[in-house]
Amino acid sequence: MRDIAIVGGGPAGAMCGNIWRARDAWSRFMTNIWPGKPCGGGLTHKAIQAYPFLLNGPYPKKLIRTVELISSKGHRAQLSLDHPIVIYSRTVLNGLLLERAEAAGCRVVRSRVNQIDADGERARLTVGENRIDADFVVIAAGARNSLLPNTRPF
Ligand SMILES: Cc1cc2nc3c(=O)[nH]c(=O)nc-3n(C[C@H](O)[C@H](O)[C@H](O)COP(=O)(O)OP(=O)(O)OC[C@H]3O[C@@H](n4cnc5c(N)ncnc54)[C@H](O)[C@@H]3O)c2cc1C
Repeated sequence: MRDIAIVGGGPAGAMCGNIWRARDAWSRFMTNIWPGKPCGGGLTHKAIQAYPFLLNGPYPKKLIRTVELISSKGHRAQLSLDHPIVIYSRTVLNGLLLERAEAAGCRVVRSRVNQIDADGERARLTVGENRIDADFVVIAAGARNSLLPNTRPF
């Protein structure tokens, strides 16, 4: 048994938690501070092909089948898409990915990880008032996160 801490419950962290479903010898938890974020929520055909549950699931979404291009002079062209673009509210998208991670066995802790100390044999995460030890840490806290400077160099 190994403890894996996944920091960040956005698409990367939540899918990471899901992928480990197949390796059930490992226990894991993940943290998340904010499920919403400004985002178009648009998913391309490639994404849908890779993760069909995003099209077939029961969650509310919009399917875009035509797009209209409008030039600065007002010329218009309508295009029909061979495959729809799927648009989610980002809160719904993040929520459903986290639900799947939870269903796969992840324990979701909704608090901020303030620090990661990777100097000891096990990594130690400071989560609010608590300290949590983990054998492995996945940092999926988004492009702009402050955790890397305090961690051991890769
Ligand atoms: C305005 C805008 C529009 C976009 N539109 C689209 C689009 O239409 N389609 C598309 O595919 N992509 C779009 N993107 C890009 C998309 O949002 C990112 O590629 C994607 O969110 C990256 O996922 P991620 O899991 O790596 O990071 P994030 O989604 O940023 O998730 C990181 C998570 O970690 C959490 N976190 C951060 N620090 C900590 C901490 N210290 N402790 C605990 N948790 C922490 C955050 O709260 C967040 O929940 C858009 C981005 C922006 C900014």
